[in-house]
Amino acid sequence: MLLILVTLVHAVSIVSALDPPQETYHGHKVFRVYPGADTDHKELLNTFTHNDQVDIWRTPRHSNDSYDVKVHPDIEIDNFIQELENLGTDYKIWINDLQELIENERKPSKNIEKRATRYIRHDAYHTYPTILSYMNTVAETATNADVELGELGKSFERRSMVYLKITKRGGSAGKKAIFIDGGIHAREWIAPAVVLYIIDQLAFNPYNDPDVSLMLDYFDWYLLPVVNPDGYQYSITTSRLWRKNRSTYSGRCLCYGSCVGVDLNRNFAFNWDPNLGGSTVPCAETYSGESAFSEPESRNLGRFLCEHGSEIISYISFHAYGQLWMYPWGYTYQLPHDYTDLEEVATNATRALRNVYSSNYIVGSSTNVLYPAAGGTDDYAKGQCGIKYAYTVELRDRGHFAFILPQEQIVPTADETWTALKTLADSIIRKEHLNR
Ligand SMILES: [Zn+2]
Repeated sequence: MLLILVTLVHAVSIVSALDPPQETYHGHKVFRVYPGADTDHKELLNTFTHNDQVDIWRTPRHSNDSYDVKVHPDIEIDNFIQELENLGTDYKIWINDLQELIENERKPSKNIEKRATRYIRHDAYHTYPTILSYMNTVAETATNADVELGELGKSFERRSMVYLKITKRGGSAGKKAIFIDGGIHAREWIAPAVVLYIIDQLAFNPYNDPDVSLMLDYFDWYLLPVVNPDGYQYSITTSRLWRKNRSTYSGRCLCYGSCVGVDLNRNFAFNWDPNLGGSTVPCAETYSGESAFSEPESRNLGRFLCEHGSEIISYISFHAYGQLWMYPWGYTYQLPHDYTDLEEVATNATRALRNVYSSNYIVGSSTNVLYPAAGGTDDYAKGQCGIKYAYTVELRDRGHFAFILPQEQIVPTADETWTALKTLADSIIRKEHLNR
């Protein structure tokens, strides 16, 4: 037994650099497109979406803001630029060669502070098997809390969707819980990395942070680092910019490679509507699926959230990028009746976050700070399961590296997010008059 344990610990403590994914992105460019006052956004979006060589990474939030769109080198670039100019937009080529950025992302980090604990390095992105192995180790060896390993169910490709429940050592039952997930969108690697860092803080308290015991006094914690394990692993090994899950169903057209998969964050069964920020086209990056909950990953997470709905007081889903702390609703411009509570807690959290490394986050409802998108997890958590403080958080950055955030930014991002989380927990304790 000891030998097995030692081998396991050894395996997760020495993590070499990831092998590069098979698909390369030489010559892929990211355009930053600034619509003018007279630009017809519908026309502009048409220009993007009628062309499956264009992938919209970000849509503008206000009049001076931009679209970020990735353009495949096969596209007639002069024609594309001409179309943009005809529509009265300004643009610049923001990322000239995506492959360079991807190679840069994997360079080992020089950041030494807080980069590693006993069992995992936090200055590196990890494969799904490594993440699972680490979670097993945490469940066996946690020094600071009781840790239980659980499975929400299986993904389309039959991977286990594994979560940890972390509670106070010998603590009493009946506490409120905070549920945190990441990695529903495969390419947003910083999200699982941040969840792993949070697991480490709660389970081991490696830096003797006095707030950790307070957080375990008041809350039980559920942590699901990767909602979409098939897509995440595919992004690690094969196609860095993969977003959806990896489902295929007979009858769905397979005209292009990207027709595999559903955008899981458009697939949840609360006011599900593919025409609101999703898509009925299987090849689209935001394909909402055949029907609400057509996908095993969203069904598994949805079931768990509602089964524990009376216990969970806050649901936080980490994404990237954009630095936004958003609350429901995503399906309508209307706000929840208690939105001032959600706004206040998020404002406190992001203010604390800013004090760490001066990162600015925007707080608001998803529809108002981003765009309408029905079928998201936070709408479901709040609307269907009655979880009051439901948030979607777009982590770093604001588009400089976009999804390809270098490994050396993992620890600072996790560090500031951890501070935000502690403030969020503290604000909820005070607002809801919670007892230990
Ligand atoms: Zn996302």
